[in-house]
Amino acid sequence: MIHLHDKSFEPFISSEEIDFAITNMAKQMDDDFFDEVPVFIGVLNGSFMVLSDLMKKYRGMCEVNFVRMASYEGTQSTGDVKQLIGLDQDLEGRTVVIVEDIVDTGNTVEELKAIFKEKKVKHLKIATLFFKPEAYKKEIKIDYVGIRIPNKFIVGYGLDYDGLGRNLPDVYQLAQ
Ligand code: 5GP
Ligand code: MG
Repeated sequence: MIHLHDKSFEPFISSEEIDFAITNMAKQMDDDFFDEVPVFIGVLNGSFMVLSDLMKKYRGMCEVNFVRMASYEGTQSTGDVKQLIGLDQDLEGRTVVIVEDIVDTGNTVEELKAIFKEKKVKHLKIATLFFKPEAYKKEIKIDYVGIRIPNKFIVGYGLDYDGLGRNLPDVYQLAQ
């Protein structure tokens, strides 16, 4: 059991299981991109661990980059419309793999897809280490899924609870 802020979390997914899942994702990607030089793009902050470990297992030639989703700031009441920050690369004609830590409702993935559509990429693929099928509300295909999990709140391996827990090598779930 670990404690972060006011909550307790119990062990849920071990670092060995995560390693196995990422190895499989890397193998699939090696098969799919054998004749291309994909650009892997991690969505910060959560994806820093998964992209790092995935890249150590991916054997092909590739590029690596990071972006961040941010809410618009200013006077306009734009609701929860997001913008992409940190993209410093022309992606026209490239095969792009967006790497996420977790896909929950799919809102973020939908926003990312809409934004990357304007970048004239050749192929856009979505990869996520964790996927909550029961919570997912979108039609967008998730091309690479590491581990399917029930609709529970998890921390560790890049995922935080109010800023804490990202550095844990294993994944924990909220204790009852
Ligand atoms: P979405 O609902 O758009 O698919 O996911 C939005 C974001 O919510 C994710 O990128 C992630 O930051 C956060 N999130 C969703 N489920 C969890 C979870 O179980 N644990 C943590 N720490 N964050 C989550
Ligand atoms: Mg995320």
